Amino acid sequence: MASFKVIVVGGSVTGMVLANMFEQYGIDYIVLEKHHTIAPQLGAGFALLPNGSRVLDQLGCYDVLKKLSAPVNSLCGYDQNGDLREDRPEIGQWLEELFGYKMRFLERRQLIKVLFDNLSDKSKVYTSCGVIKIRYCSKMVKVETDGGTIFEGDIVVGADGVHSRVAQEMQRLAGEDIPGKKLFQQENGK
Ligand SMILES: Cc1cc2nc3c(=O)[nH]c(=O)nc-3n(C[C@H](O)[C@H](O)[C@H](O)COP(=O)(O)OP(=O)(O)OC[C@H]3O[C@@H](n4cnc5c(N)ncnc54)[C@H](O)[C@@H]3O)c2cc1C
Repeated sequence: MASFKVIVVGGSVTGMVLANMFEQYGIDYIVLEKHHTIAPQLGAGFALLPNGSRVLDQLGCYDVLKKLSAPVNSLCGYDQNGDLREDRPEIGQWLEELFGYKMRFLERRQLIKVLFDNLSDKSKVYTSCGVIKIRYCSKMVKVETDGGTIFEGDIVVGADGVHSRVAQEMQRLAGEDIPGKKLFQQENGK
């Protein structure tokens, strides 16, 4: 079977979930993360909602996350005057009965660390690799990092947040050329 490699840019929640999925499906991949460590002490917390918890359960992470997180058993909503507008004293029980999971809170870095720890092969996750440029060739895509290393793969996935470098590069590439023109020229030797 022909090899196929995915380059995931960003090693936070999206990137680490993808890494676990690729590993479990036997799809070759690497993750490039710009920070020098996975799960730096950044951001505050994550709310795990039942739909996300089901995915984390399927990946084999939920039991650990359940121990690390705090459940939401009841929920109150207040308006701008401080008056009670919503009171759901049994929301935790309802969610568990309906979906199998309560809403739970934990530190952002804990979630990312659990996902990273769940990977059997951690050598596919590269830290201190901030992506600066993406180039596509006829049969591969090349991803250049701030350290000068160039990684090659078949497809790039942007999991690098709202200020995504991958999205910026996609815009640059789209504006640089008529879609498909460069590939046509390369493949036809023009
Ligand atoms: C103020 C605020 C509060 C929030 N509060 C909550 C909350 O309470 N509960 C909740 O569930 N969600 C909350 N969110 C939303 C949550 O943070 C996001 O949904 C989540 O972080 C998205 O994950 P992600 O992996 O897609 O991107 P991100 O978490 O943004 O991660 C992007 C990753 O890509 C890396 N990266 C960026 N650029 C590059 C590059 N060029 N090369 C390589 N790596 C790169 C970054 O270092 C980072 O590791 C909040 C968001 C904000 C802004």
